[in-house]
Amino acid sequence: MSERSAGSVPPPSERVRVRRKPERGRYDRATIDAILDASIVASVGYVIDGQPFVTPTAIWRTGDRLFWHGSSASRMLRRTKGGVLVCVSAFQLDALVLARSGFNHSVDYRSVMLLGRAYEVEDEEEKLASLRAFVEHLYPGRWDELRPPTRQELKATTVLWMEIAEASAKVRDVGAHDEPGDERWPTWAGSIPVAVTFGAPIPDRFVPVGMPAPIVALAARRSDQGW
Ligand SMILES: Cc1cc2nc3c(=O)[nH]c(=O)nc-3n(C[C@H](O)[C@H](O)[C@H](O)COP(=O)(O)OP(=O)(O)OC[C@H]3O[C@@H](n4cnc5c(N)ncnc54)[C@H](O)[C@@H]3O)c2cc1C
Repeated sequence: MSERSAGSVPPPSERVRVRRKPERGRYDRATIDAILDASIVASVGYVIDGQPFVTPTAIWRTGDRLFWHGSSASRMLRRTKGGVLVCVSAFQLDALVLARSGFNHSVDYRSVMLLGRAYEVEDEEEKLASLRAFVEHLYPGRWDELRPPTRQELKATTVLWMEIAEASAKVRDVGAHDEPGDERWPTWAGSIPVAVTFGAPIPDRFVPVGMPAPIVALAARRSDQGW
């Protein structure tokens, strides 16, 4: 995927039309979903009494819905459920980009921004299914290995969702760019790739010797996508 092959899907609304560097804007669901699915966390923005707050939180996606969860005591969750306006953004930082002028330094990235309203998952079965999807999204096959959640644990957990509808993606993947004539300036220029890596699992002291650690799905997904 590159700026030169920007998709032809139009923005779903004027509010999410990328104006700054519009050639980097993408509105197709495949791009938006892939960036969301590669993101373990996102930032949820909302306004309380006129004050904007942006809370980092774990996310997962099922179909057309983006989910996040937390303690039922969380102010972020208590104040955003019930159809409150939110803006969620997530990004993958792909490279540090060094040019021959400070002005042209940049980063390569894939990011998404979603506008919409947040709602609570109230139905008990739906809530359980969405929590299952959260665990399975990160660690396929793990939910069935776990001690089932208690009623109290479920009560203590709030799950919110928003529709993935009014959304934009923005992708920069062009590396270094210098002003004409700067190429001969005697300093290094180019990209330094950035990637999330998962280290070797560290079992706690109760894990029996030889028990295999779960596989983290995101590592496999990232290489499937070739990003
Ligand atoms: C990791 C990272 C680092 C960045 N660092 C910088 C920086 O240092 N300086 C800087 O100016 N910009 C940076 N950007 C780009 C930044 O996110 C904005 O795109 C840019 O600042 C233009 O903002 P704007 O409000 O003028 O965009 P506009 O184009 O006016 O925004 C209009 C609409 O476009 C969409 N949109 C805008 N930006 C994004 C985005 N990033 N992802 C998805 N949708 C988007 C939204 O729907 C928004 O409502 C960075 C982006 C990422 C992901």
